[in-house]
Amino acid sequence: MIKPAKLVIATHNAGKLREIRALLAPLGIECVGAEELDLPEPDETGVTFVDNAELKARQAADLSGLAALADDSGLAVDALHGNPGIFSARWAEDGDGERDFGRAMERVSREVEAAGPDAGHDAHFVCVLSLALPDGTVESFEGRCDGTLVWPPRGDKGFGYDPMFVKAGMERTFAEIDQNEKHRISHRANAFAKLLAAFREA
Ligand code: IMP
Repeated sequence: MIKPAKLVIATHNAGKLREIRALLAPLGIECVGAEELDLPEPDETGVTFVDNAELKARQAADLSGLAALADDSGLAVDALHGNPGIFSARWAEDGDGERDFGRAMERVSREVEAAGPDAGHDAHFVCVLSLALPDGTVESFEGRCDGTLVWPPRGDKGFGYDPMFVKAGMERTFAEIDQNEKHRISHRANAFAKLLAAFREA
């Protein structure tokens, strides 16, 4: 894989852009946000995390003529056959497009209880990073973080499903631990470590 000098980060989320820019700066990679280039947000029509990350990266690379990096992530619950999965953000949306993760977590908890005690409480977070190059090639890196679900939710740090997720071997939820620690051990950290290793080898 070649290491691009400049990358479009295919996200309209300012927080994500800032984080990715900081991660790639030491490698001498200049990052530009999709919004700065006026790129549209594609519909996430894929059926897997890889599909969605790749379609976002591909579209940004095709429209900008630059290498593009996109991510897709979510929570996969064993008792729910991997749901909410790629629908993790959508489970939090109401009819007006507003997001309420309290409601999304309640739905997860309710459906896990309905699945019965044998179904267990195992879950994992997934993050897929896809790098699309202007020549049409695309490569994906998957990070995963295994754990269990707790109820009721605990902690006020983090975001999304963090208050109901405890990483394997830990006792506190992702919303109770120091966020710098979360960033070192999360599914996202895991996917980025793989991407950075590929860049370093390039
Ligand atoms: P997207 O990758 O920006 O589409 O976001 C997917 C959704 O997955 C987020 O809105 C969260 O609901 C959930 N999610 C992804 N990563 C995390 C995490 O680290 N903690 C909690 N929820 C997460």
